[in-house]
Amino acid sequence: MKQEGLRPALFIDRDGTLIADAHYLSDARKVQLLATAVDAVRVANAAQIPVVIVTNQSGIARGLITDAQYAAVRDRTVSLLAAGGALVLATYHCPHWPDVTGPCDCRKPLLGMYRDAARDHGLDLAASAFIGDRWRDAQPALATGGLGILVPGAETPPADVASARNASAQNASRPSHIRVATHLLDAVHQALTWIGQQSPRAAAPHPADSTH
Ligand SMILES: [Mg+2]
Ligand SMILES: [Zn+2]
Repeated sequence: MKQEGLRPALFIDRDGTLIADAHYLSDARKVQLLATAVDAVRVANAAQIPVVIVTNQSGIARGLITDAQYAAVRDRTVSLLAAGGALVLATYHCPHWPDVTGPCDCRKPLLGMYRDAARDHGLDLAASAFIGDRWRDAQPALATGGLGILVPGAETPPADVASARNASAQNASRPSHIRVATHLLDAVHQALTWIGQQSPRAAAPHPADSTH
């Protein structure tokens, strides 16, 4: 049977999704929430689905951002959201850059941050949504069985939109697997609807259990 107590979550990218993408942001005073960030997180809070921020921060490995500067930007982001009544469960970051630090298991679209969050907070990745402005933010859904939603923004490469649309088309038998949303609040509404649709199955034996 499915493990008791595991719950779905929304994994949301930071730069270009919750806050303006300032490229290797090191100054907490420059954190600017994007238009629907507070509302999107509040809607998730109201639905009692935890929000986890996951962010690639290769600027740390590149020497452009110190650990302390990263922590200050993280804390400022969380506090600006909280000031609007929007609560975040936790934030995870990948500080690596393969050219400098070698390969890691946490740089999106790899799953290290999601697995850490699942372990730390009892989250069910297969029942969760993966949201952001780059293809690599949504792509983890293909590995976990969750829902990936690309939210194209000012900095989103057209190739990322094409990748998301291709993945969506290729999963025609599972049309909910990858989607493209118009803005973050739209993505969260779609994710919460999808999560609600999964919950009846969550009570049934999981097909994967027969292999264990
Ligand atoms: Mg981003
Ligand atoms: Zn990493």
